Amino acid sequence: MFPVDLTKATVDRIEFPLLKEKHIELFMLRLDKIHPVISGNKWFKLKYHLECFKKNNYKGILTFGGAYSNHIIATAYVAKLQGIKSTGIIRGEKPRELSPTLKECIDYGMQLEFVPRDIYRQKINHNSIPTEQQFPGYYTIPEGGAGAMGEKGCREILDRVNKDAYSHIACAIGTGTMFLGLANSSFPEVIGICVLKGMKDLPGQFNEMIHPPAKKKYCKIFYDYHAGGYARHTPELFSFMNDFYLQTGIPTDFVYNGKLVFAITDLAEQGYFPQGSSLLLIHSGGLQGNASLRKGTLIF
Ligand SMILES: *Cc1c(COP(=O)(O)O)cnc(C)c1O
Repeated sequence: MFPVDLTKATVDRIEFPLLKEKHIELFMLRLDKIHPVISGNKWFKLKYHLECFKKNNYKGILTFGGAYSNHIIATAYVAKLQGIKSTGIIRGEKPRELSPTLKECIDYGMQLEFVPRDIYRQKINHNSIPTEQQFPGYYTIPEGGAGAMGEKGCREILDRVNKDAYSHIACAIGTGTMFLGLANSSFPEVIGICVLKGMKDLPGQFNEMIHPPAKKKYCKIFYDYHAGGYARHTPELFSFMNDFYLQTGIPTDFVYNGKLVFAITDLAEQGYFPQGSSLLLIHSGGLQGNASLRKGTLIF
């Protein structure tokens, strides 16, 4: 079963006075529109993990994430749709009131296990997951749907797009899986906006994974647009996102795409993009994460 509708992923032209002035064209690939729950890049990241799951007769799926994780909710939904048992290992102690994201996951039949933050970190980092032993025969999908299977799926993000029409392709970076998939499937310069603080070692890990190696020259990552760290925010970011929505009608999430668009317009302002550049931004979805904000923060 193919749960998402890729024909809904339009390429929207974005008219921004600043960009017009600088003779830069800006487009956005609207992956946020392919499905209300499995939004953005998460379908691409899950696709080959699911294939792997099915080929090998696993009993269920085990995966990881935070209380507002787009990956967790996408996995819960796909698992329900395909009749697969799923368990989400959730970062942090069980709160008195579950987040809307986690409540929805439970509705989809996902079993949740809460793990204190320090232990959760160790598990992810050491790649030896004691919880796995509680779930014999389960297939483990790394946090965020990362890993080689996730990257393979992300190479298909641009399949329906005329890649040659753009000088730059830009996306947000969490684990960097989508960034790698884009870099490995296109020729323009690929720009990644890191939404986590302190991830300066990304290129080191990445270098081995970019093919062909000559492509590395055309991969750029910016580290200073995280607005304080992962899922952190500033009033400036919110007013930018509201303004962007008013001007374009495009909603963004504050964890990834708000920071991406902010960064790209800032870079444009600074003269990073030569005249005549044509940019394609990947809108990677994640709008459900905005539910963690106080009502009224965003106008959409
Ligand atoms: C997961 C996610 C990302 C990050 O993708 P990575 O492949 O982990 O870098 C970006 N945007 C949204 C909306 C996401 O949910």
